[in-house]
Amino acid sequence: MAEINENYLKLKAGYLFPEISKRVKLFTESNPGKKVIRLGIGDVTLPLPPSIVNAMKLASEEMGTSSGFKGYGPEQGYSFLIEEIIKNDYKPLGITLSQDEIFVSDGSKCDTGNIQEIFAVDSKIAVTDPVYPVYVDTNVMAGRTGESGVDGRYSGLVYLSCTKENGFQPDFPKEKVDLIYLCYPNNPTGTTITKSRLKEWVDYAKKNNSIILYDAAYEAFISEPNVPRSIFEIDGAKEVAMEFRSFSKTAGFTGTRCAFIVIPKELNGISSNGEKVSINQLWNRRHTTKFNGVSYPIQKAAAACYSDSGKKEVRDNILYYMENAKIIREGISKNGYEVYGGVNAPYIWLKTPKSMTSWDFFDALLNKVQVVGTPGSGFGPSGEGYFRLSAFGKREDVIEAVSKIGTLSF
Ligand SMILES: *Cc1c(COP(=O)(O)O)cnc(C)c1O
Repeated sequence: MAEINENYLKLKAGYLFPEISKRVKLFTESNPGKKVIRLGIGDVTLPLPPSIVNAMKLASEEMGTSSGFKGYGPEQGYSFLIEEIIKNDYKPLGITLSQDEIFVSDGSKCDTGNIQEIFAVDSKIAVTDPVYPVYVDTNVMAGRTGESGVDGRYSGLVYLSCTKENGFQPDFPKEKVDLIYLCYPNNPTGTTITKSRLKEWVDYAKKNNSIILYDAAYEAFISEPNVPRSIFEIDGAKEVAMEFRSFSKTAGFTGTRCAFIVIPKELNGISSNGEKVSINQLWNRRHTTKFNGVSYPIQKAAAACYSDSGKKEVRDNILYYMENAKIIREGISKNGYEVYGGVNAPYIWLKTPKSMTSWDFFDALLNKVQVVGTPGSGFGPSGEGYFRLSAFGKREDVIEAVSKIGTLSF
């Protein structure tokens, strides 16, 4: 028989969301007819805006004509989309990029998961704790870790705790690391990083020859003026960072699929014989070998997010979610909860009352008021004692959930 990649056996079974489903199922089976409100989801719920649907339709029809038909497009994405990205997402921030510094893809999950392939197997990796699990699991698969310990952490990875004590902005690693995954605005904590702290990370990376993998999937939810929207707002970041963006949460593309990575030409790695190697060129080689591009109608749909009507419709959806976030944040804190996030991201991260564990609090919410959230410990050991509520639900459900949680006392 063919021998398998044993690194896959180190992976902990996808525990968090199956366990949530199991507990919800058990509850609904023994309490038929009771309405359960789900504020656990990390997925959008509003339909695609009309300008986007229209662009997708027109592009599909174009594909059905002999003059408009398109086969394989450029693997890196059509320039009509890349131009809009540069003009609307980066130019207003004073960031200049050339077209070949952007790689369009079918998702940031794939991008943040695949990027590790172009780095050495013995690279030292730092991740935050709690964390978006993709960064960790893909490095486990690649063999960059040992087994996971009783504390839920894999040996060989450097974990950077993010708790209320450090304002959810991690301390610098004590040892030298090669790659650092940062996600701001953050999933799951909903918190942000300050420009000055991000500058310190860029300086750290410069000093230690590290590369920062910056996941900005929630950039569009930023509402406060001084929160960095891109790591490239920081001087010198082009030499030490790449950035991941996605249309998923921004424009409701979770089921439509379109994202991109920005890899500046200034970003270099090093080969074992000490030669500088362009990360942009390395990724270009990888991307064009393993990927054949996002479909034309979807790239047209993504480009429509930048039209005047598209911008407004996308903005309205985000404002809807952020109003939900405000209702949750204010409603819950009025009831004495310590809450974080929810101002520049669609997630509210609350401290469980009376030092309850994340799962005990989950069970209490489910059994007493039928509200489902996500236990913080599911995102890493430093998430223990925290709980995530998502703002992606329907307004009436959000209002009902908040008022029900308000009836609880611990
Ligand atoms: C949702 C999300 C993404 C986006 O993933 P897609 O594959 O583009 O849908 C990326 N990073 C984080 C942290 C996310 O929560």
